[in-house]
Amino acid sequence: MDIMIYLDAAATAPARREVLEEMWPLLTTTFGNPSSHHAYGEAAAAEFSRARARIAALLGCRASELVFTSGGTEANNLALKGMALAAPRGRHIVTSAIEHPAVLEVLDHLRRLHGFRITTLPVSGTGLVSPDALASALDDATTLCTVMYANNEVGTVQDVEGLAGVCRRAGVPFHTDAVQAAGWLPLDVGRLGVTALSLSGHKLGTPKGIGLLYLRAGTPCEPVLHGGGQERGRRSGTENVAGAVGLARALDLAQGPLPAAAVMEATARDAFISSVLGGVPGAVLTGDAEQRLPGLASFCFPGVNGEAVLLELERRGVICSSGSACAAGSTEPSAVLLALGLDEETASTAVRFSWTQGTPSGDLEAAARAVVASVRAVRSLGAAHPDATPAEA
Ligand code: PLP
Repeated sequence: MDIMIYLDAAATAPARREVLEEMWPLLTTTFGNPSSHHAYGEAAAAEFSRARARIAALLGCRASELVFTSGGTEANNLALKGMALAAPRGRHIVTSAIEHPAVLEVLDHLRRLHGFRITTLPVSGTGLVSPDALASALDDATTLCTVMYANNEVGTVQDVEGLAGVCRRAGVPFHTDAVQAAGWLPLDVGRLGVTALSLSGHKLGTPKGIGLLYLRAGTPCEPVLHGGGQERGRRSGTENVAGAVGLARALDLAQGPLPAAAVMEATARDAFISSVLGGVPGAVLTGDAEQRLPGLASFCFPGVNGEAVLLELERRGVICSSGSACAAGSTEPSAVLLALGLDEETASTAVRFSWTQGTPSGDLEAAARAVVASVRAVRSLGAAHPDATPAEA
């Protein structure tokens, strides 16, 4: 593959060498099943609990409050189905209109099969949930609330502390999907005041297949996976010891340099945004100008199809996404962009750029030049075909 500038880290990131090196012995020498009663099992169990303790220290929680999962999707499934079914109260769940499908589809399942009522809070034009709107949506029947920490399509960061506080005062458990926040924002669960928090490794430099749910001690939670009773009965299945060790290292590497690394990357991001907005007539930044991830910028380029820009950018060596990767293949306009108030035609012009900590600012500068040239190229192609509608151009 030619050298490319990879700006699709919100979909997935490359595995980090340090992470793989720390995982290697767990796959080759200390490879035992932690449930086995022999030296190999015991050695693996010891490594597993060391990894758990490292992550607990990083999140500011007890080791017993962590449940390892296969990724962010499973962590969200466990949090939402698990908490809802264990303590259904009045079968009412509150969420936001811009959640990832790994939340929205779970809630739809709870609605269809278990009779839960779902209240979906609207968001502002920049993707923010209002704490007042949340407060008025809660009632005596509310089982739980889930609002994501940072949005995967537009990068808007919620005031999780404020939203969790509203729920705490009302006695309602609060879950946050922090998959996109990790590596950029603080993850101290005590400070955030959350009841549950989901993470995924492959956005941070582990191989795919490891994630985590923080679940505050004493929170009733039904398992989703039944079997051998691993993870204190909360998640059965032979433990991914190497994955857990890799996740501990990846979180150390990602959270350690914060907040300085986030500040530096936000400066590079703002320069990238200015270059794109300055160079592409009519370009619009989506999401919140202030409350946004340092490693994500997404735009609408009126009059051009996002997919066409994506292909043109790839031809020029820049990899990005025309929306959320999880919705890739679907021609539906992004539900997140519609929830922000964009019309369908504008939403179809969206392009997202996302990167990891330490991405050289030179890559972003080169990418901005490629964006300007690509949109110009796609627009002139449209102008050469007068029959084409703007969205087809
Ligand atoms: N939640 C958010 C906000 C995401 O961006 C993603 C993945 O893109 C997920 C959940 C799903 O995580 P995983 O791919 O680890 O299942």
